[in-house]
Amino acid sequence: MKKLISSILATAVALSAAVCATSAVASAADSADGAKFAMSVSFDKDTLVPGDEVVASLSLDKNPGIIGLRINVGYDDSVLSIAGRDNIVNAELLKGFVTPPPGQLANPFPLVWSDPLAEVNNEADGVVATITFKVKDDAKLGDLKDAVSVSFVDIAYIADPDTLQVGKYEPEEAYADTTKAAAKVVCKEHKFGAWETVKAADCVTAGSQKRTCEACGIEETQEIAALGHDYGEWETVKDADCVTAGSQKRTCKRCDAEETKEIAALGHDYGEWETVKAADCENAGSQKRICKRCDAEETQEIAALGHDWGEWTVVKEATETEEGTEQRTCNRCDAVETQAIPVIVPSDTPTTSDEPITSDEPITSDEPTTSDEPTTSDEPTTSDEPTTSDEPTTSDEPTSSDEPVNSDKPADTDKTNPETGSAPAVGLFVLMMGAAGAMTASFVIKKRK
Ligand SMILES: [Zn+2]
Ligand SMILES: [Zn+2]
Ligand SMILES: [Zn+2]
Ligand SMILES: [Zn+2]
Repeated sequence: MKKLISSILATAVALSAAVCATSAVASAADSADGAKFAMSVSFDKDTLVPGDEVVASLSLDKNPGIIGLRINVGYDDSVLSIAGRDNIVNAELLKGFVTPPPGQLANPFPLVWSDPLAEVNNEADGVVATITFKVKDDAKLGDLKDAVSVSFVDIAYIADPDTLQVGKYEPEEAYADTTKAAAKVVCKEHKFGAWETVKAADCVTAGSQKRTCEACGIEETQEIAALGHDYGEWETVKDADCVTAGSQKRTCKRCDAEETKEIAALGHDYGEWETVKAADCENAGSQKRICKRCDAEETQEIAALGHDWGEWTVVKEATETEEGTEQRTCNRCDAVETQAIPVIVPSDTPTTSDEPITSDEPITSDEPTTSDEPTTSDEPTTSDEPTTSDEPTTSDEPTSSDEPVNSDKPADTDKTNPETGSAPAVGLFVLMMGAAGAMTASFVIKKRK
């Protein structure tokens, strides 16, 4: 086995002088299972820029179990240069890598792998070597078809893993399989021309444009944003009225897209309030107003005015024994209100001082003795009234029998009787009988026009 492999390598080395990177493409070698064995070359950049470095990777695909390989690597030396052998790195996918001696970094230059012991049937695929190139400063700009190309010189592989029988491609066959990497050399700083529209944008769809470098021909593309609609003025489709919303629309000048919008209902536009029925002192009135646009009506109550009373006028003066009477009249409707004027209390009468009847005593309230009836016990005024003079007033009432309990009455306030004065009722006749038998009468007479 060793002898066999050695002879293969000897053949390979013998072929090293052959520089033939221009062969036409032919069929690739077949692996044991019939799949095509191939090597590919690729750069780590899309474009090559003068002055920059670029790395080319050599990769195996469908490795048939190579134990010996010799290739020639050629490159376009008008564009690329290799600084030295240190720029060639073996990925150790194959055994026995042999880099070319310094003096042999010619173009093309050989790379050799050999595994004489053949202890491992290596069928792994992947990168077997990387080569770093420098892009020459004066590199010609533009497309480069054969930037790097690989030619097979010799390939030995294990055809039968059990017997370790070695298979071998004929040199002609290997030479024929050449792999190339194309590249584009572009400027460091482009000189772009004007943008040209590739696809125009419309209202809703973005377009695109491109520009080209006048020096290296590289193109740059850019999106043109969608324009958005170019609407005209709003047009009324349906007028709004007082209570119903209307609508309006506008149309794009470019694409006829439509947009619609609601017009809010206007609400009624009422005129002034007009009186339908005037209010008077006691009766509410009403008023209405009408929408200027749609004749809708709104009505509202006018509250009753209440009487507009004039001053009290004495109709009959009160005496010490008799109540008087006073009246007042509404300025608006002639309603009349009448009330009593309390009996006049003699000024010399010792009033309440010795009387425990405090003013706030409830006696006064239930004791209607105040009013027009001189409740003087001894004076049986009202004929029909059995206000018995001899009848002592209520036992609990320490109102001295001879004393008009109301003595404090006329003193305290004006003549308004607290009862009738506060009572709004008109036409009310109140008759109250006090415990003392005194009688109070209050009249409110309403006289309608
Ligand atoms: Zn350019
Ligand atoms: Zn549009
Ligand atoms: Zn209206
Ligand atoms: Zn009135």
